[in-house]
Amino acid sequence: MMMSDRESPKKPTLNNKKKKKKRGGAKRKMTLEQTVAYKAVNEWVSLDQSNSACVDAFLDDDDFGVQCYRPKEKLVFEFHCHTTCSDGFLSPTKLVERAHQKGVKVLALTDHDTMSGVPEAMEAARRFGMKIIPGVEISTIFYSRGDSGPEEPVHILAYYSSCGPTKSGALEKFLGDIRDGRFLRAKNIVSKLNKLKLPVKWENVTKIAGKGVAPGRLHIARAMLEAGHVENLKQAFARYLYDGGPAYSTGSEPVAEETVKLIHETGGVAVLAHPWALKNPAAIIRRLKDAGLHGVEAYRSDGKLSAYCDLADAHDLLKLGGSDYHGRGGQQESDVGSTSVPVLNVHEFLKVARPIWCNAILDILKNYIKDPSDSNLQHIIKFGKTKVSKTNSPFGSPSELINQCLSSWLSKEERDNAEFETIKLELTRISAAQAELAVSN
Ligand SMILES: [Zn+2]
Ligand SMILES: [Zn+2]
Repeated sequence: MMMSDRESPKKPTLNNKKKKKKRGGAKRKMTLEQTVAYKAVNEWVSLDQSNSACVDAFLDDDDFGVQCYRPKEKLVFEFHCHTTCSDGFLSPTKLVERAHQKGVKVLALTDHDTMSGVPEAMEAARRFGMKIIPGVEISTIFYSRGDSGPEEPVHILAYYSSCGPTKSGALEKFLGDIRDGRFLRAKNIVSKLNKLKLPVKWENVTKIAGKGVAPGRLHIARAMLEAGHVENLKQAFARYLYDGGPAYSTGSEPVAEETVKLIHETGGVAVLAHPWALKNPAAIIRRLKDAGLHGVEAYRSDGKLSAYCDLADAHDLLKLGGSDYHGRGGQQESDVGSTSVPVLNVHEFLKVARPIWCNAILDILKNYIKDPSDSNLQHIIKFGKTKVSKTNSPFGSPSELINQCLSSWLSKEERDNAEFETIKLELTRISAAQAELAVSN
């Protein structure tokens, strides 16, 4: 999130501290339901880590002689965080390193309106045996009555398969337009600040944002701090930059419902970010559910937020959550990996996500078969070759490369269907044809 007051997680209260202690961590015994979920999630996490036993667990007798499951390690998921590719302070590599230190096993990278940090994060994650879910947090606008009426900014998280979105050109264009709008919007904010006699240099804003990064409010707040107009970032938001504030400006964000539909069409899972920041969460969740929303954030590092869990349950939506870590440092910020999403919820998420991702991968492969060009092959492995490149082994053929990728992305059951069999045959045929061509050249 572009930081604003309403969104920064509140400091844990005494009550919440108690809750944290009660969670008890990895040693606690699991119910049968949790055990089933844990095993399924663990199996997915371990798909591309066949050589390094991922998370071990063992059966144990409880006090009454009944066997129960005790995982040796917690499966920590981080579903929401940012890097220097948007308004975070850490590079994708540094973020992954920190997440690893904090025990995170699976990290969804969700920069604002860009997926440009994913390849670097994947590369770094390989070193630690971590898994990256390619994601993005999309800035949208919700109009409370049709396309007119009061509007409010809404952030929607999209989670994709390791192979990324289908129709990635369309998604890239969509995100590119938002980023262009953000440049314009940042310029408007800077000119408003100048009129308010709080001069901020445009060059400073773009320098803080970094090369090629669309500037957000947080970057402008940092420029204001550097110029001595405010004492801290919080003050910049509370006085000038808040939604509707004296220096606020809207960009050219897409309509929230359209965005959910696009996430659907591109093979992603759509989750509403920080509903606690919304003025009208009930109406927004209802309308977005109609557009195909899959879930809402309902967990933060200070625990579960019952109001949003209830809203999610009422609309049969997934309940997720993440730290929204930006790497700002300081006591107010929740650390990466600090949000504890129950394993049952993670399992529900994967039950929804995996068929969607499986279809997306099928689509991308079918595209390659239609046009087996190098650029289409690059598209398949644009986020990294997962375990394949670890050994640096040369690939005999595209079909071998794709087969290796598939075995690290999908389980055997997912791959065991007629469509994948046909694709494999086609791939072998294409590789043979290409080899022949290479010889005759
Ligand atoms: Zn965020
Ligand atoms: Zn956000």
